[in-house]
Amino acid sequence: MDNKLLAELLFGDIKATVSDIIEKYPRRALPDKAEVTRFSPSPTGYMHIGGLYAAMISSKLARQSGGVFYLRIEDTDKKREVEHGTDEIIESLKGFGVEFDEGAAADGESERGEYGPYRQSARREIYRVFAKDLVEKGLAYPCFCTAEELEEIRRRQEAEKLDMGYYGEYAKCRGLTLEEIKQRLAEGKEYVLRLRSPGKVGNKIVCRDIIRGNIEMPENITDVVLLKSDGIPTYHYAHVVDDFLMGTTTVIRGDEWISSYPIHHQLFEVSGLKLPRYAHIAPIMKLDGGENKKRKLSKRKDPEASVSHYSKQGYPVRSVMEYLMTVASSGFEEWRMKNPDADISEYRFKLEKMPVSGALFDTDKLNSVSRDVIAKMSEEEIAAQITEWAREHDPILKEYIAASPEKFAESIKLWRYNGKKVRKDVAKWSELTDMFDYLYCGAPKSLDFDEKISCEKRTEFLKAYIKEYDHNDDSSQWFERVKQVGEPLGFCPNIKEYKAAPESYVGSVADACGILRAAVTGKRNSPDLYTIMQLIGKEETLGRLNAACDK
Ligand code: GLU
Repeated sequence: MDNKLLAELLFGDIKATVSDIIEKYPRRALPDKAEVTRFSPSPTGYMHIGGLYAAMISSKLARQSGGVFYLRIEDTDKKREVEHGTDEIIESLKGFGVEFDEGAAADGESERGEYGPYRQSARREIYRVFAKDLVEKGLAYPCFCTAEELEEIRRRQEAEKLDMGYYGEYAKCRGLTLEEIKQRLAEGKEYVLRLRSPGKVGNKIVCRDIIRGNIEMPENITDVVLLKSDGIPTYHYAHVVDDFLMGTTTVIRGDEWISSYPIHHQLFEVSGLKLPRYAHIAPIMKLDGGENKKRKLSKRKDPEASVSHYSKQGYPVRSVMEYLMTVASSGFEEWRMKNPDADISEYRFKLEKMPVSGALFDTDKLNSVSRDVIAKMSEEEIAAQITEWAREHDPILKEYIAASPEKFAESIKLWRYNGKKVRKDVAKWSELTDMFDYLYCGAPKSLDFDEKISCEKRTEFLKAYIKEYDHNDDSSQWFERVKQVGEPLGFCPNIKEYKAAPESYVGSVADACGILRAAVTGKRNSPDLYTIMQLIGKEETLGRLNAACDK
């Protein structure tokens, strides 16, 4: 067959050659060992925590080696695309501090970088130049098989328990003559462009995966689709052309792609292009029904699969990134222990140290990392972060902060300190909502009294306390007063004495405080009650105590 003629027949409009294109994508002038990495999502608008994980790792690798991290939008599947999907991806990554040196931009903005266009839908002609070249070399051919014919092949292979795919005797269009092709084209038949795979059954190739080491795999023998019937490339082909032209040094992607690696290996080889390095990362998993039943975090089933979950909950960005780094790198926690105050960017990350099998997403661990992160923040930073969070996720709190920034700043001290010590019990800003409720929203709607003390006794104590209450007390005078009021009513002022003979008392001073706490906050647990009373003010305190007597 005259392949040149066939190439003209299929790609008559293409005048440029592969060398013309390659000339426009010169090698990047970067230091030795600089890594060029990319994040290349489909513009579905949904940002999975696994995507953030991969993007964080890819950007880290580029940054620490003086390389480049870019964004490529893989929008070859129009069915999956949503409006402004790219904007949402860029925005949510930015929210987590992941930014690109070059690449696709939000809708309506211009791309940055010399290696674009960075949206695959804008690169149609480029792929066709490369595809034409393969046809000229006899390495690709048009396939006119209909969906029914392909289904029939699948059925036969299934029934005979053969390897699935378009290969060998099943590759019906492989042997079409130029005349037969011309005739089908004249009839207006649709076709896809397939690789003429040079692979042989029994041959092996090796995937040199940076994380997993060498993986031996059978060579690809299937005539995979390169261009779909609309001329748009498949992921396999687009990735090969793009990662080559854009100078990607290391492809970091999910391990669901390992099984396609032989195809990619072969495509680079037949195209005469240099293979990048590959790192296939294990997905983030969760336990589901039983000790050892792990599954991938699912977009459909798990709210925590979406990065928006973490923003809504009010996890500081730093907490999420620190946590993901502990998942990504077994050496990170030790480094953090030795360098408690260092910026995460100082950590040298190694792909080789990534977990080989799916790491479990552990919310308890995230919370514990986050408590440490928050404990290290200054009060000013906490105030700024909560204000920012409330702006988007808690409109009521937002109003309160705006109305009284001083009171808000005081409220941070309330949960942050235990005396002089910094407490570590807040992991995310939404945990504070309960507290904001009683600080800002007036008397609590329900009061969770400990029923151990009878209703009559509680009322008696509250009435006596209201009479004696002095808003000018300092914290120790305040405590003395609770004792003084409680003692004649049967509340033992000394906890030890109470514990030695509980039956001799109505309760202890701790129970007396509990009554006040429930009356003021509605809850059995709260930060320092004296401070809360000072914060809400005299009128409000007395109002709530009186209201509690009536309940
Ligand atoms: N668009 C592909 C995906 O979302 C990217 C895989 C890759 O990084 O090469 O899975």
